[in-house]
Amino acid sequence: MICFLDFDGVLHPQALDAPIPAEKEFCHLGALEALLREFPQVLVVISSSWRETVEMPVLVALFSEDIQPRIIGATPTAGPDPYGKGHVSREDEIRAWLTANGGLDQLWVALDDLEHQFVRHCDRLVACDRGTGLDERSFAELRQHFERAAAL
Ligand SMILES: [Mg+2]
Repeated sequence: MICFLDFDGVLHPQALDAPIPAEKEFCHLGALEALLREFPQVLVVISSSWRETVEMPVLVALFSEDIQPRIIGATPTAGPDPYGKGHVSREDEIRAWLTANGGLDQLWVALDDLEHQFVRHCDRLVACDRGTGLDERSFAELRQHFERAAAL
């Protein structure tokens, strides 16, 4: 299973119009990594807008060493609008990545706080509350996705 991972509003809370306090930055990453260790078949693709400004090796280095090999890429950020909607949503970026990397039939889940970016695949979105980021509810929901995939 592939987990498309957003950062802001997921791995740390994101207040509107305010920078993330340094002590909160990536405060939920440890919990996510612990879950990933329970499900070694899950691979991670970064869908966060951080990928637009930060080089991939720097993004990968944010993760613990044992998790780093499981960060297999980032969704595409530019290119033609494949769906003719005039804009490319996060969901479209995920579909573009899947199409280019093994096809749309793969099992995947997205962890994101931008619920409105997902229209066709709401069942594959674990939506986080941006004010808290990954909390007990979204963590449990993500675990269910991983468990379902592991049971197949
Ligand atoms: Mg976000």
